[in-house]
Amino acid sequence: MSALRWTAAGTDGGARAGVLRTAHGTVPTPVFMPVGTAGTVKAMTADSVRATGARMILGNTYHLMLRPGAERVARLGGLHRMADWHGPILTDSGGFQVMSLSGLRKMDADGVTFRSHIDGSAHRLTPERSIEIQHLLGADVTMCFDECTPFPATEAQTATSMRLSMAWAARCRAAFVPRDGYGLFGIVQGGVFNALRAESVAALTEIGFEGYAIGGLAVGEGQAEMYRVLEATVPLLPADRPRYLMGVGTPDDLIGAVARGIDMFDCVLPTRSGRTARAYTSRGVLNMRNARHAEDLSPLDPDCPCPACQKHSRAYIHHLIRADEILGPMLLTWHNIQYYQTLMGRLRAAILDGRFTEEAAAIRAGWQERAIA
Ligand SMILES: [Zn+2]
Repeated sequence: MSALRWTAAGTDGGARAGVLRTAHGTVPTPVFMPVGTAGTVKAMTADSVRATGARMILGNTYHLMLRPGAERVARLGGLHRMADWHGPILTDSGGFQVMSLSGLRKMDADGVTFRSHIDGSAHRLTPERSIEIQHLLGADVTMCFDECTPFPATEAQTATSMRLSMAWAARCRAAFVPRDGYGLFGIVQGGVFNALRAESVAALTEIGFEGYAIGGLAVGEGQAEMYRVLEATVPLLPADRPRYLMGVGTPDDLIGAVARGIDMFDCVLPTRSGRTARAYTSRGVLNMRNARHAEDLSPLDPDCPCPACQKHSRAYIHHLIRADEILGPMLLTWHNIQYYQTLMGRLRAAILDGRFTEEAAAIRAGWQERAIA
């Protein structure tokens, strides 16, 4: 039996290209995973997500355990079948959303009890239950259940929180059922403190995981601080395992993190921005609500193969947004996911060709061609 594994295909400076092999197929890295919160990438069919070139998506334990329920998803054939997604799925552990969405939380050393934000019903998550739920969902990549350290936090608070998460990581490893092509990722915590990050890496690598995530970033520390933590942390991680930066980020963040050795990303930004009229393009960010697009017959992005760009004008998309037509957010979501996939494809090709720095500079220069609106 072999667990999910990652192999390197090439490096350029700190940036890496590779291939992730899972029970539901292979994924070239660096990879951006669109977020499929409640069993759907919002405003997209699975076919449209596939059409962007996306090979792997994310599902949320917290949302799915509350509705429709993990056992029900399993009875319906698992998340892959339910959502018509036949590629790999990574599920988060539920910890982050318990902290950000649920009401009346009570933390203890064993887990967390909370009330659903939907109907107020009482639920409990422990490391063991989170791993069981992710197994029921059918996740190719299961994430360890950890405590979300608040930001800002003192070094002492961050240390206590990180050490609890490391104890839980050992329990997650023990609860995880190994299967061919499936894997469990540990999550490095420790906030902005290098010594705590190093202690967390040491604890996790002692336990041993199929991949390592870096958590607790993009929570308000700023890009420079995030890069500083990555530069201190990534070199400590095993070179033969995938590295996943959770919840990041803007296209610029992705380039900077790939340069620092990150292989996997997820973020709600492309999908959420699609629902708030923002388009990420090769010429910068556009606000499609802006009246200057009202009679503009040019496409969102002349370099983009998505239907929003191939079939429609900025003027039409602006009209759809102003008229509150549902097609507006659908087209912008499709475009934004396409943009992120195209971006990652360009970065991967550049790493393999040994011209990552030049390509990153060319992409960033493109964003300057049009002022952010
Ligand atoms: Zn497009």
